[in-house]
Amino acid sequence: MTEEPIIKFDKVVKRFGDLTVLNKLDFEVKKGEKVTIIGPSGSGKSTVLRILMTLEGIDGGVVTVGGEPLWHERAPDGSLVPASEAHLHKMRSQLGMVFQQFNLFPHMTVLRNITEAPVKVLGLSRKEARERGEELLELVGLADQAQKYPHQLSGGQQQRVGIARALAMRPNILLFDEPTSALDPELVGEVLNVIGKLAEEHDLTMLLVTHEMRFAREISDRVCFFDRGRIREEGSPEELFTDPTEDRTREFLQAVL
Ligand code: ADP
Ligand code: MG
Repeated sequence: MTEEPIIKFDKVVKRFGDLTVLNKLDFEVKKGEKVTIIGPSGSGKSTVLRILMTLEGIDGGVVTVGGEPLWHERAPDGSLVPASEAHLHKMRSQLGMVFQQFNLFPHMTVLRNITEAPVKVLGLSRKEARERGEELLELVGLADQAQKYPHQLSGGQQQRVGIARALAMRPNILLFDEPTSALDPELVGEVLNVIGKLAEEHDLTMLLVTHEMRFAREISDRVCFFDRGRIREEGSPEELFTDPTEDRTREFLQAVL
């Protein structure tokens, strides 16, 4: 039995002016799978995540999430038409994203950063959102920091708030875009620990862009090497890290490991 992938890019084209960033990209993620994307700067890794978050449109092909087209919807006659705002909203609610630069609201407390969207978007009561927010802060090891403001926290703590905030929207797919790249080296471990804990959740689908190769190797079911908007090579962490078949993958790994 083959299960329908939860994320599917089917010949997706993405351009910025004259630059073709994704050139007929085919890419799939199964439900519950933990997939890592590695590859050189400018190869289109962030673009893939940003398209999934509907922060970027596409110029060709189809992206589906949970079997439904993301940027299109089906008309009653079965044809695909451009997505309405309501459709985009529904699709977006399945995904959460953790950014390299945390993107917390500076004027809100830690707890408020986590409860704001669940109240405004999901319609939770303040009390429900607070209870859930406190549970999530516990999960990321920040139960005692709820009333602080982002600038009072270390980068590692801020990123853990970023993770709690993404989880507060109850996504079934979590995207991470180089979540530790902006951190001082001694703060990377605490963030990877939290991500590693989430990776043990069977139902949660995770798509992670990272340069932390050792970590990628530990938590991923599959690693994809991106090069110029294509998947140049993919496989289990064992295959890709110890025995890559492509020269380009080998060169990249030699440069970063
Ligand atoms: P990666 O995350 O792999 O480093 P990106 O997906 O961010 O790569 O970017 C891929 C390419 O697209 C890069 O050459 C980048 O400069 C370009 N690019 C990304 N976003 C934009 C944009 N908004 N406008 C123009 N070019 C962009
Ligand atoms: Mg990027």
